[in-house]
Amino acid sequence: MIRRVALALTAALAAPLSAAPMQQPVAPAATWYTVGQVRVAALHDGDALIPNDGKTFGTDASPDAVSAVLTAAGAPADTVAVAFNALLVKLPGRTVLIDSGNGPAMGQLIPSLAAAGVKPGDVTDVLITHSHGDHVSGLLTKDGTPAFPGAKVRMAAAEWEYLKSNPGAAKLVAAITPQVATFTPGGEVVPGIRAIAINGHTPGHTGYEIVSGKTRLLDLGDTVHSSIVSLAKPDWAMGFDSDKAVGKASRKATLARLAASHELVFAPHFPYPGVGRIAAKGDGFAWVPVAGAAK
Ligand SMILES: [Zn+2]
Repeated sequence: MIRRVALALTAALAAPLSAAPMQQPVAPAATWYTVGQVRVAALHDGDALIPNDGKTFGTDASPDAVSAVLTAAGAPADTVAVAFNALLVKLPGRTVLIDSGNGPAMGQLIPSLAAAGVKPGDVTDVLITHSHGDHVSGLLTKDGTPAFPGAKVRMAAAEWEYLKSNPGAAKLVAAITPQVATFTPGGEVVPGIRAIAINGHTPGHTGYEIVSGKTRLLDLGDTVHSSIVSLAKPDWAMGFDSDKAVGKASRKATLARLAASHELVFAPHFPYPGVGRIAAKGDGFAWVPVAGAAK
């Protein structure tokens, strides 16, 4: 079933991905992976279909060109499917959540967290890739109180400035200010997780790399949105990128590095659970999903 849903909270934040997508309800889900000594779980918040109308994917290409890429991959050509996923990371003494989902407007992140055996009050750190509504709206409950009251909310200093400059986010900013701790990307933000600037999507957009021994998993944030279009045509402009030229360059360089390193990747908008590897394919890339475990 496909519903058109007015996402009141996220629309107030002018969230690019959740402003008016065709939202599809999903069941709560947590899927586990092992990264060296660290256990992580992909959490499902929801799914949506974005119209292939030239406004989002390939804004400097054409809907026909986007359709051709989708059709070649065996996908419907009139919409682009995206998921909304967040990542739970269990570290010694810490329970870390990377991004907080759409909040009550979509609603499955907290039930998915429960499926992973974690209560909101258990979360010690919420790491924010960027401040679009589909990544930060879940920081508040439907009553407007902090959803993770025991957590530090960590984001790049440039992203916090960007969020504070958004008039639609005033209530969120006021509510979370006591929890926020900012950093400059480039080092460890909590022990075992490195913050990496991936520029172009928003002013302080940050990827997070879980490092355990020789094993790594990089949460790409919104460097990519479609497991088909963003990888096959990384140099097509993405309508949600605030700096489209920088976004293209970051996307291509990051994907090339990941295709060479073969490290694990988590992509919040790829089909749930959104964990896999990047492979080189033609003049672009392809997604190689990796199956996880229920426990
Ligand atoms: Zn997003």
